[in-house]
Amino acid sequence: MIETAKLDGRRNYKVIDGRLCELVSFTNTCSGCCELSDGHNIYGYPYDEKAGCIIGSGCEECGYTGKRRQTYWIPILFKKVRS
Ligand SMILES: [Zn+2]
Repeated sequence: MIETAKLDGRRNYKVIDGRLCELVSFTNTCSGCCELSDGHNIYGYPYDEKAGCIIGSGCEECGYTGKRRQTYWIPILFKKVRS
């Protein structure tokens, strides 16, 4: 059973497998057109400070922007209270 609940106006929540998850979205480097060597930008791709990621050379996958908007459902981990 999947329920969608709006706990506040800004964030999206959904219960997946009995766990409350939050929709998190961010802009990330397009893996289709940006080649990194062990995470190092050896080919000198431009860095987009606003998006916080490296911009690839552009391909069909990302619509030639070099970056992609990604969204994930992340389970919210509740802190355990220890006495
Ligand atoms: Zn791309």
